[in-house]
Amino acid sequence: MSENNNSLPKPKKKTPIGNGPGFQGWIILALIVGIIGVMLFSSNKSLSPIKYKQLEQMVENGDVAKVAVVSDANLVEVTLKSEALQKSEYKKLLGNNRFTSGPHLKVEIISELSFMNDFNNFLKSTNLTEDEKASLYPEPIHRENIMNTLLNWLPLILFFGLMYFLMTRMAGGGGPGGALFNIGKSRAALFDADNKVKITFKDVAGLDEAKEELSEIVDFLKKPKKYTELGGKIPKGALLVGPPGTGKTLMAKAVAGEASVPFFSLSGSDFVEMFVGVGAARVRDLFKQAKEKAPCIIFIDEIDAVGRLRGRGAMPGGNDERENTLNSLLVEMDGFGSETGIIIIAASNRPDVLDPALLRPGRFDRQISVDAPDINGREAIFKVHMRPLKLAKEVDAKKLATQTPGFAGAEIANVCNEAALLAARRNKKEVDMKDFQDAIDREIGGLEKKNKLISPEEKEIVAFHEAGHAVTGWFLEHANPLVKVSIVPRGIAALGYAQYLPKEQYLYRTEQLFDEMCMALGGRAAEEVVFGKISTGALSDLEKITKMAYSMVTIYGLNEEIGNLSFYDSKGQSEYSFTKPYSDDTARKIDAEVKKLVDQAYLRTKELLMTRREELNKLAQELLSKEILYQSDLVDLIGQRPFDKPTAYQEFMDKKEEETVTEDEETKEDESKAEEIVDAEENKETEA
Ligand code: ADP
Repeated sequence: MSENNNSLPKPKKKTPIGNGPGFQGWIILALIVGIIGVMLFSSNKSLSPIKYKQLEQMVENGDVAKVAVVSDANLVEVTLKSEALQKSEYKKLLGNNRFTSGPHLKVEIISELSFMNDFNNFLKSTNLTEDEKASLYPEPIHRENIMNTLLNWLPLILFFGLMYFLMTRMAGGGGPGGALFNIGKSRAALFDADNKVKITFKDVAGLDEAKEELSEIVDFLKKPKKYTELGGKIPKGALLVGPPGTGKTLMAKAVAGEASVPFFSLSGSDFVEMFVGVGAARVRDLFKQAKEKAPCIIFIDEIDAVGRLRGRGAMPGGNDERENTLNSLLVEMDGFGSETGIIIIAASNRPDVLDPALLRPGRFDRQISVDAPDINGREAIFKVHMRPLKLAKEVDAKKLATQTPGFAGAEIANVCNEAALLAARRNKKEVDMKDFQDAIDREIGGLEKKNKLISPEEKEIVAFHEAGHAVTGWFLEHANPLVKVSIVPRGIAALGYAQYLPKEQYLYRTEQLFDEMCMALGGRAAEEVVFGKISTGALSDLEKITKMAYSMVTIYGLNEEIGNLSFYDSKGQSEYSFTKPYSDDTARKIDAEVKKLVDQAYLRTKELLMTRREELNKLAQELLSKEILYQSDLVDLIGQRPFDKPTAYQEFMDKKEEETVTEDEETKEDESKAEEIVDAEENKETEA
């Protein structure tokens, strides 16, 4: 879904609304620094300390003018009479403090209460006059001890500061501050009319049905009067359904581009926040903004993040926030009439889990499927993305389309870009077929690891493993034909792969699935047949067949023992539950049946490979010397496939030849889906 697209002009993205720079954050920081500064520089005036006994002595001598107790500080401050300050003993004790009006001395006490007791008793026992006694009676003073206050407040301030910081981060704000105060604002990135979306339907290859459906919306956005005058209602929303990378976002942008209206784009997950009520607020804000810019298009990617079926799940209350968000989305959608000129286009690859309320008339009543492209579609997409490239003459989009079964638009865009980069790295003047082929390999299997160290023994195992797949597929009637098999190590985990070209079909018979399982097991079986030992290299094969076998037994009802039962839950309703829809007894039976199925497939594969040992050896040896083998090489090495029916690949190639003869003959080709078997390799180090 990423935009791996260097060819299409990207609309300039404005800063998402609601993410202003955060002044508040700086203010808080400044406050904290200021407070610490005050703390450091405002320590108490330094008074000369004396002992309590000295104080009593001074009082008896008649030197003391005033005694004050500083509450909460366990401190007594003593002010001397001015005449006493002249005494030589105080000159030394007080220093410069002598010239102030006081207080001059301090006594540290243990507790205010005990000091008051002691001092009052002491005063009573002296010979001072009653007036003098009254004037010396300790006077409580409430001086804010800044230091103490700050120390008390500091943890709190720091705590709030930290909270604030974390909250701004979590709310996804850019700088500190902004996001917290704009939490309910929509984060829709606005592509507004000033810098218009420049993508049009021309930039979207294939998908003709979808374009047709959407062109009505374009027309409406351009000439709303035409429709409203006749009293017709235009749909408020369209739901684009399809796997990732097939161009849903691109399509929505193209609609905006065609109609030259502003384009609001955001993802369903943008609504979902940790704060309750935020999602709903965002929805309201989004619609408010959209109404100001109408006519316009709101694009909500991955709508399933908010639009899942409500009121499901074992945890009550767990989804309240999402439900609120969804409700407010529904309310907003109902709230504007079709004359407002807002069209909502949503994208999802799981329409089955969406709440039916979303799909009701007047909401996303139009579902448009945006499927993975077929061979013609892929060719068209190649052509779109080749437009900006400098191509060598021999580059053939059709040939590339045959080599990329199952690729979605995004992957094809990536291949084109990668090919251009490869050509540049190779200092070529134009991008040629080799660059494209390498780019495709790279897209399938990851980066070629030329200098990955593989011991010769390992290489031999890999060669036999891949040859095993190829031979099994070659001699099983229902297995998919091979396109290419390679033992060039790629990516992090793949030591080799075999690429097949499956016929596009919607119904599979049991024997087809069984043949496919055998083919997937061909790698491991070859290892056992040839070396008598097996390795970890079959991980991804085993993963695949385990899934397949379980689906056959529990989902498609293809197993006699379990019968015509399916435990599939198409609505995903038991998503959060921990219970199985069958008894323990059935579970045991399922496991046993799955194991039986896989064991049978393995046995059959081994037997097949033992009888085809010669072919296996030939292929493996050839692979070891050439590293990559194509279908034609296989024909040369081990002869034609012994089945009369032409394969999808051959059909396509035959058609292509016909086409070149009769130029204008329409070809509607069987769609082809990719399936590659990448052999993961684990514990490489321990093995090597
Ligand atoms: P989705 O939203 O379905 O996941 P995107 O629309 O984001 O997919 O597609 C990603 C990229 O793939 C696009 O930017 C574009 O470059 C390319 N692409 C996908 N489908 C097509 C297509 N039909 N024609 C041209 N380019 C396509």
